Amino acid sequence: TRPENCPPDVEQLGRATWTFLHTTAAYYPENPSPNQRSNMLSLLQSLPVLYPCTHCATHLGDNMKSHPPDVSSRATLSRWLCERHNEVNEKLGKKKFDCGVKSLDERWKDGPADGSCD
Ligand code: FAD
Repeated sequence: TRPENCPPDVEQLGRATWTFLHTTAAYYPENPSPNQRSNMLSLLQSLPVLYPCTHCATHLGDNMKSHPPDVSSRATLSRWLCERHNEVNEKLGKKKFDCGVKSLDERWKDGPADGSCD
């Protein structure tokens, strides 16, 4: 196994980035202000330009052309992001995630009802 202090590989970078993006979406307002919407749009649109895995960035950029981000609410953003992540899962032969608000909130915001993450 690689030592902990190595630069991130594509998998580690991916997990860290999805964690940041899904968590940020989970806490995004139900009714975002124009300023919040425009900053979220900039954050998402910067990924195909700046994400430091070139083939990942290209794939996401192509995907975003046919599926532009919907930053109008927490619900629409969380679902949009889940669907983009699922396209990567599909490409890599990983299982698809349930993009319903309940599953997303349990995974990224509230934790399971049994309190095992409290
Ligand atoms: P990850 O896919 O990193 O997921 C982390 C956790 O998120 C999972 O354990 C699960 O609990 C949860 N999760 C899974 N799916 C969803 C979903 N749809 N919605 C919400 N939560 C979910 N790797 C490549 O090899 N090629 C690529 O082209 C590529 N493109 C990428 C593009 C982007 C924008 C990002 C951020 C990453 C990309 N990656 C790519 C990395 C890849 O997506 C994974 O992060 C990496 O393979 C590690 O996978 P993992 O199995 O640990 O879980």
